Amino acid sequence: MKRLYNALNLKKALTLKALGVEYIEPIAEFKELEIQLPDSLEELEEIVKNCYLCELSKSRKNVVFGEGNPNANLMFVGEGPGATEDNTGRPFVGRAGELLTKMIENVLHIKRSEVYIANIVKCRPPNNRVPTPKEALTCKPYLIKQIEIIKPKLIVTLGSTAYRYLTNDNTPISKARGHIFDMQNYKVLPTFHPSYLLRNPSAKKEAYMDMLKVKEFLESLKE
Ligand code: URA
Repeated sequence: MKRLYNALNLKKALTLKALGVEYIEPIAEFKELEIQLPDSLEELEEIVKNCYLCELSKSRKNVVFGEGNPNANLMFVGEGPGATEDNTGRPFVGRAGELLTKMIENVLHIKRSEVYIANIVKCRPPNNRVPTPKEALTCKPYLIKQIEIIKPKLIVTLGSTAYRYLTNDNTPISKARGHIFDMQNYKVLPTFHPSYLLRNPSAKKEAYMDMLKVKEFLESLKE
């Protein structure tokens, strides 16, 4: 029955789009969808893979749903897929991904497969531009549902876009980074985006400090 509601809601949204309706209030339409989204990652992935609700769906090669441990205590959220991610359908597998993997494995001393990695938008913005507010808000219910299913204790947001859209806080990343913020069911720790670190290696020191904070938090869960 739930599946039928999902299908009907998606059909309704797609019909509205086909009729040329501009999603001036994407959230209003999606609030309904959010309630109806399935409680299993596999079923959710199926829905996201068949999503055509924003412009990004036109140019994507693959939907990058996210990957990792479905029971992870720690989740990373980036901005959106780049070229390598679009080609492979996997998050953070390009140069920025290599750096993220090193941060996880060499600083946190855990395997990448132990955490869950996702993005604000699941399809690549052309030329790696920043997702528009409309794209980010249209896609956000999928991320929120992923978070509800995985129930991470801590979410590390990578870069300002991920932090802003997840928390609705516009504090610059340079100021917010390294602090742990309480959300309703989890905590958020913003840090720099690995792409930014590749362009600005001097910021790696601060990112390293942030990862130590993450490590400390994970250790506190064991006590
Ligand atoms: N940058 C992101 O924000 N996400 C990815 O998956 C890859 C690069």
